[in-house]
Amino acid sequence: MAITDKIYVKNHRQIASQLETGFPKSAFAGATLDVLFTGEGLSKLDSATRDRALDFAEDFLDCDCQSNPYCGCAERKFISYLLELRAQGLGPDAIVDVMGDEYMLYAYSGDILSFLDQSVRTLEAVETLADVEGDRKMSERARRAKRELTG
Ligand SMILES: [Zn+2]
Repeated sequence: MAITDKIYVKNHRQIASQLETGFPKSAFAGATLDVLFTGEGLSKLDSATRDRALDFAEDFLDCDCQSNPYCGCAERKFISYLLELRAQGLGPDAIVDVMGDEYMLYAYSGDILSFLDQSVRTLEAVETLADVEGDRKMSERARRAKRELTG
């Protein structure tokens, strides 16, 4: 399962009652993207929740793909967001706090930790492969990215 399948909407029950409709807890489920982050849903939310939902829509759902919001851009952008927070020196618990403050989302810090570990292993694999192929530029990029993630 991708990390984006393990990102959840905070205050889920309260938000569902504001929207007067049920939706999945998972933030990136198609139905959640439809119900919570687009047009009509937004207008039913209280202002604090709406601000967070709007920020999420602006930061992650703003692409022009025809299949928006199902094109995968939101998931890719969110993964970059997590990696950037890590590169700024935040640990899993702090990352969970920040996504709560900024977008009213939560995740289990253990899941974030596994995701970060997995990312480092992926970069190691990229580095090794680039070394084998003599692609120094790619190897150096992977090394630098890995340094950012491991601090
Ligand atoms: Zn897109």
